Amino acid sequence: MTRRLYYEDPYIKEFYGSIISVEEKENGVHIQLDQTAFYPEGGGQPCDLGIIGDAAVSLTYEENGKVVHVTDKIPNYTEKVPCRIDWNRRFDHMQQHLGQHILSAVCAEIFHADTVGFHIGSTNVTIDINKVLELKDIEKLESLTNQKVFENKQVDAFYPSQEEFQTLSLRKLPQVKTGIRIVRIEGVDVNACCGTHPARTGEVGIIKVIRWEKYKGGLRIEFACGVRALRDYSWKNDAINILAISLGCKDLDVVQKLNVLNDKLAKIHKENSELKDKILDIEARELFAASGKENNISIIQAIFSNRDLEEVRLLASKITVLDSAVVLFGIKNQENAQILFCRSKELNHISARELFKESVALLDGKGGGTDLMAQGGGPSIENLETALELACTKLKIAFGE
Ligand SMILES: [Zn+2]
Repeated sequence: MTRRLYYEDPYIKEFYGSIISVEEKENGVHIQLDQTAFYPEGGGQPCDLGIIGDAAVSLTYEENGKVVHVTDKIPNYTEKVPCRIDWNRRFDHMQQHLGQHILSAVCAEIFHADTVGFHIGSTNVTIDINKVLELKDIEKLESLTNQKVFENKQVDAFYPSQEEFQTLSLRKLPQVKTGIRIVRIEGVDVNACCGTHPARTGEVGIIKVIRWEKYKGGLRIEFACGVRALRDYSWKNDAINILAISLGCKDLDVVQKLNVLNDKLAKIHKENSELKDKILDIEARELFAASGKENNISIIQAIFSNRDLEEVRLLASKITVLDSAVVLFGIKNQENAQILFCRSKELNHISARELFKESVALLDGKGGGTDLMAQGGGPSIENLETALELACTKLKIAFGE
């Protein structure tokens, strides 16, 4: 039976352990020690990593009551092997874990909300509660939890006797009946838990709620404690300073300044699209006036370079409402050529789609459409002029019949 040092003292970073079993598997060497400070995954807390002798630990897990370490090789010693856990990783988990206890306790006490999920990821930490909270509740939650942190309450873990267990008022009843480990935060929370925690709430540093969203009828709250909260504050502070310099205002005024700029931008966008529309009207009339007629039908043929397809489509539709017209447009881009054919509504005997078929084949491309409008493109840019000429010739032949 492995002695679990992390329960005796969660601050043990280095220890000596003797190897009691070694098994080579596909994902690495699976090692058991006579004693270990490596915490296996459990209770929402991820496992510890570190080194056993000269071997790196990539995973620690628990199976059938045994703590197993997965390493990249068989360590150089078997007796009294020097071991070290990745303390930064462990302490981060301890901070997030105790932060979760405090958040869950306040959620239960103030909002009568139960914690139904908890997850510590490498980038984010979340709890799920079975109640929806409003902004003012979240603010209250954050304020009260940090109060408990600043009060630096004592945290202890113990295994109560049956009689003692009956006297405890647990936040949540544990699923197991025996060997229950209780984690108590002085005056804040009593709960069954198998994780590792700091000795006092002050070590959590700070609990910051980052964001929240409705989730399965309740709420998922993302938060950060201690070092994670500091990292989060750091990059956000850098970002706000950069924004303030860029916007030429104080950090406190960044949001207001952005709102003003967004309003201005929306107004400019609106004016710009109105102006573009007017310019397209003029261009449509000019193209129409310069075009030749066959059988009283205008054929408007043009090739554009690197022009937005949506804009060209709008231009074409503006032409087809001026008078009876067939539009044969091409666009040359860096990688391909596009064609867009359309006709006025009343020209029922002409099919844009039929005209389009052979032309798009010349571009080695694809596309489609209706009798009114067809569009598509292909890589053979050099054939664009021929593709339009072909459609124009076909139209003239059709008119001649
Ligand atoms: Zn815990």
